[in-house]
Amino acid sequence: MEAVSIVGSALRYHAMCPCNTPSTDTSETMHPDVQSLLEVQHDDLEIYGLEAKLSSLAPRLDALEKERARAAQELDRASAAVTVEEARHRDATHRVDANRQLVERSQRAYESVTTPREANAAMIQLEQTKRMVDDSEREATQINGRIVEMRRHVGDLQAALADVEHRQSDARQALEAERAEIESQIAQAREKRDAKAQSVPRALLSKYDKVRRRRRAETVFPLRGPSCGACDTAIPTQRRAAMAATGSLEMCEGCGALLYAGE
Ligand SMILES: [Zn+2]
Repeated sequence: MEAVSIVGSALRYHAMCPCNTPSTDTSETMHPDVQSLLEVQHDDLEIYGLEAKLSSLAPRLDALEKERARAAQELDRASAAVTVEEARHRDATHRVDANRQLVERSQRAYESVTTPREANAAMIQLEQTKRMVDDSEREATQINGRIVEMRRHVGDLQAALADVEHRQSDARQALEAERAEIESQIAQAREKRDAKAQSVPRALLSKYDKVRRRRRAETVFPLRGPSCGACDTAIPTQRRAAMAATGSLEMCEGCGALLYAGE
């Protein structure tokens, strides 16, 4: 029964406490300005969390870009190879034409011979040029076969690229939706933060902001006993007393955190 009555008196004390801090020891009571600042810090940490989430989207988008770029590069390389082979085919076709002209010339030479010896030489020449036509035609046909094969490969790669783009469109839409959602959460959190910051005295807020921008993490810590709540460096008694009396923030020389008195 005694325990119940102690709890009851503690609760009554809280109700009367102007800063509504759950402590019965006034020397441990947090200054209301610090209380307001901690609420601002709470929102800042939320914003940092959201910003980290937002930047984690970038590598996911990069991965999609890389996958698409790989497919596009493969297609480009295959198309370029077709272009090279087409030029080779044009050259081969020219050789066929040139060799056919040689055959015609050899044919005319053969028809205009006057001696059996000339006829023999012209016949050899004619057969030689006919073989050259055959060889160059075979080469042109082979190149053409390769081109047909390579164009089919280009077609496959075009389909593969289209497939990647199609598959990615869902992923990109999802990423975009996620980005928009996080950005709206950040905007809301900033609005809330700015409203709360109104209740923090200017000087205190700017001191906090300066350190926070450098740290981009939790900045304000309570004293833990006689030491910094973040790194345990001991804080001189005089400074601790000043913090408790005025609600001022003191920078820890160990870790650069801002410290306040009271839990
Ligand atoms: Zn520290």
